[in-house]
Amino acid sequence: MDNANLKPLDDCLFDAFTNKVYSDDCNPQNYPQMWAIIEGINRFDEGHTKFRPTQARQEHECVQGCEIEKNETYFKFLAGSHWTSDLVVCASCMAMILYFNRVGSLPPYEYSHWDINRNMPILIGKERRPRPETLIKW
Ligand SMILES: [Zn+2]
Repeated sequence: MDNANLKPLDDCLFDAFTNKVYSDDCNPQNYPQMWAIIEGINRFDEGHTKFRPTQARQEHECVQGCEIEKNETYFKFLAGSHWTSDLVVCASCMAMILYFNRVGSLPPYEYSHWDINRNMPILIGKERRPRPETLIKW
């Protein structure tokens, strides 16, 4: 197996928020980056799913001021018992939160790396933790 074709979760998250620096696309929506964000949220949140991915039906502004365009995926936060639009986090900022909380070092629920050749996530060298009843999906 050629390791150059495997990107660890942390690298995918890093790509997701550094897009902001190199292009106008501050809200990554590609599969490797969105896979890393969703896997990262599940690891960070331990199946309690306080963040929920949502497809924008209109333009929004992220808590950090980023533009979220119609049809892009962003994240809502569960405040108490209801989903709120008060705390809206774009995909890029979500990736940054997860990266700096070191979710890459936590055991995976599903996969550990993105396989560039096969264009899909895979599990390498780590054991999965037991799955809770609910995991969020993209
Ligand atoms: Zn943002």
